[in-house]
Amino acid sequence: MNIKLTTSSDFEMAEERLRASRISAGPEFRIGQGFDVHTFGEGDHVILCGVKIPHGNALMGHSDADVGLHALTDALLGAIGDGDIGAHFPPSDPKWRGASSDQFLLDAANRVSARNGLIVNVDVTLICETPKIGPHRQAMRDCIAEILQIDVTRVSVKATTTEGLGFTGRGEGIAAQASAMVQLG
Ligand code: MG
Repeated sequence: MNIKLTTSSDFEMAEERLRASRISAGPEFRIGQGFDVHTFGEGDHVILCGVKIPHGNALMGHSDADVGLHALTDALLGAIGDGDIGAHFPPSDPKWRGASSDQFLLDAANRVSARNGLIVNVDVTLICETPKIGPHRQAMRDCIAEILQIDVTRVSVKATTTEGLGFTGRGEGIAAQASAMVQLG
């Protein structure tokens, strides 16, 4: 069997072809996805997608434990291949204790801007039995749109339960996943 090993010059040629095709094909689009989980502990409110919601438990975490903004931050970082939230804001650093997560998301947005990138749209799914997300959905979309400085029509916040199954079903915590599309100029 004749296997051709890929060399670094092959990669360079492929990259050059990609650059050339990008010029003729227009802008390049990138997609990223993020996922996060935080556990419930003692407290009287949660912060989800920047919105404070009264609740019988709080989410535990080094920062404000905003699982929605954390997943979205990772989605943006994923779209530009720039590590993850833990790499840029290590939980071991006392500086981020109790930190408001909007600054994590803003940092990711600034990293997109530094690449001459535009955020096309973002989509967050919160996975939990409680609290009910519907009454707060618009406030969450408004908050994310303001942090990212994009029109609210480009921001989606969705919610689902896991029908009582698994750790979210047992009410042990909240999970979130997010997608982001970025246009690089
Ligand atoms: Mg987190």
